Amino acid sequence: MIELNEVSKVYPGGVTALNSVNLHIPAGEIHGIVGRSGAGKSTLIRCLTGLEDVTEGQISIDGVDLTAARGAELIAARRSIGMVFQHVNLLDSRTAAKNIAHPLEIARVPKAERRRRVAELLELVGLSDRADNYPSQLSGGQKQRVGIARALAAEPGVLLCDEPTSALDSTTTRQILELIGQLRDRLGITVIIITHEMSVVREICDAVSLLDEGSIARSGPLLDVISDR
Ligand code: ADP
Ligand code: ADP
Repeated sequence: MIELNEVSKVYPGGVTALNSVNLHIPAGEIHGIVGRSGAGKSTLIRCLTGLEDVTEGQISIDGVDLTAARGAELIAARRSIGMVFQHVNLLDSRTAAKNIAHPLEIARVPKAERRRRVAELLELVGLSDRADNYPSQLSGGQKQRVGIARALAAEPGVLLCDEPTSALDSTTTRQILELIGQLRDRLGITVIIITHEMSVVREICDAVSLLDEGSIARSGPLLDVISDR
């Protein structure tokens, strides 16, 4: 479960990027956050991942207050969020399997366990037959599948997706959204999708929040929020 309680972010220089944001995202929900350019979406992501300190308020993930956590607790809290990006940024010199293994290597997971985990993750995203392909040999959708597997390597409880399908065509977009839905069902993870595409929200989200000039303009179950749009 993710809770934001009166979260504000004021940048040095005085821009208020987030203004008293309250959000409650139950475990296992797929929650869309939509907003125009400049609405505060990137700031919200950086606050959620601990890259940016909030100016006021609290963010908690599964009961751990991110804004107060220090040391090992903060590291564990950060690891509980897996990030998926629009531009997947795979390492071109590494195969799909080795890209997925990368975070496990950094976390010093022993080699035998790494192999087992990578094979499991490849299966989970439907890429078992592509383990030894380099990014240049993969389609856009396949690269995003590798990105999703890499994000899941540390077994996070939350998958935070930043414009995950904005670089993909409509057919591939549908396939990636379907995969995200299956992962939620299989793993019970909570998913946040930041997007400017209402079609993505309609297709997959249980609930949605509209961010406007740093404030949550509306938030709730999908049909309550978008029924009149
Ligand atoms: P979005 O991702 O929705 O486009 P951002 O979170 O990037 O929105 O930006 C929200 C507001 O905060 C904008 O007015 C932007 O100019 C400002 N902003 C973003 N990052 C910084 C920063 N590092 N320093 C100062 N202002 C910033
Ligand atoms: P190293 O470079 O550490 O000797 P490898 O080149 O075999 O080992 O693989 C690097 C990483 O990628 C390891 O963590 C390994 O577990 C993983 N890996 C490579 N290929 C596969 C594959 N086909 N299936 C599962 N994991 C793989």
